[in-house]
Amino acid sequence: MSQLDEWSSEVISVMAEIPEISHLNVAELHNVPLGLLRRNATRLHAICRYKKGVKKTQSLGPTDVRCIDIHPESLTPDWERYARFLLYHEYLHALGYSNHGKEFRRIEALWPDYSANELGKSFSKMLLEKRAKWFWLCPSCERRHLRSRRGNGRYRCRECRVVLKDIPNF
Ligand SMILES: [Zn+2]
Ligand SMILES: [Zn+2]
Repeated sequence: MSQLDEWSSEVISVMAEIPEISHLNVAELHNVPLGLLRRNATRLHAICRYKKGVKKTQSLGPTDVRCIDIHPESLTPDWERYARFLLYHEYLHALGYSNHGKEFRRIEALWPDYSANELGKSFSKMLLEKRAKWFWLCPSCERRHLRSRRGNGRYRCRECRVVLKDIPNF
């Protein structure tokens, strides 16, 4: 059983115990195909893709979902809490909460580990840092700024006004 399958089954079991959603087709979530986003995705962490032709205005359920894709970098022990929260969030979309309205946010907040939501920011930061091929170094204060491209001598340190150097980020 893959990490994703294991965590998703556990998330579904927890969901079945949440009274506000337990009347929905929670058990059917087991049939929703799971997949992975591209590894170099940075802004998107997970997505619930509905089948072609499905309108978000109709009442939706797990059978209307083509797949849920999760960021592969979240499937590590370090990001376990966040990955579970992502699955919960996308499963709510699969249960028919198709937008991020008030009702969605109310139900989303019922996740027992809701503070895992806040890990999203550090997850984004980690993804950007992994992708950064360069850092710009201030030779004076030694502050580093991770960047995807070279600065080519065009930028100065805000504090020291010294031109920043391009250093490869390995
Ligand atoms: Zn969403
Ligand atoms: Zn400086």
